[in-house]
Amino acid sequence: MSILCEIVTQERLVYSENVDMVVLDGEEGRMGILPNHSPLLTTIQVSEMRVIKEQQEETFAVGGGVLEVRPDCVTVLADVAEHADDIDLARAQAARARALSFLEEGGPSVPASPEVDSAITLALKRANVRLSVGANRSQKPAVAGLDDHD
Ligand code: ATP
Repeated sequence: MSILCEIVTQERLVYSENVDMVVLDGEEGRMGILPNHSPLLTTIQVSEMRVIKEQQEETFAVGGGVLEVRPDCVTVLADVAEHADDIDLARAQAARARALSFLEEGGPSVPASPEVDSAITLALKRANVRLSVGANRSQKPAVAGLDDHD
């Protein structure tokens, strides 16, 4: 028995597969969703999301959004979402450095306010999740067959 898992952003359908289990951080913490789960609607945190299918695991960085669970379907309407393999680590590193320097020193043109602080804190969290998900992705050769040549 499986459950359809769809990850959708405003830009694209990121993932759509029948899977065995979905693990992600809902409003009240980490949750595992199996087929036949009771209906549920909740917000999701900026966090790692894991999908298990035939004992293989796929991971995604999810930047918040809404989760809808029905017995046969898990839908994540994500603000942003990237598969681990699609994460640009250098970009995430740069975003992290920017957010940290903004929090420590303030921005050049934006006056400090709780709203700005919380936006930067969220940006830092997104960058940290991307770095963590991206760093743990399966190690594949960047170019297939590279080792065949001297
Ligand atoms: P940045 O400052 O690097 O743009 P951000 O956190 O402000 O980071 P978002 O607003 O969350 O970026 O995302 C904008 C778009 O860029 C989305 O489509 C998101 O999936 C993509 N994106 C952001 N950072 C990365 C990354 N490190 N690797 C791959 N895609 C990314």
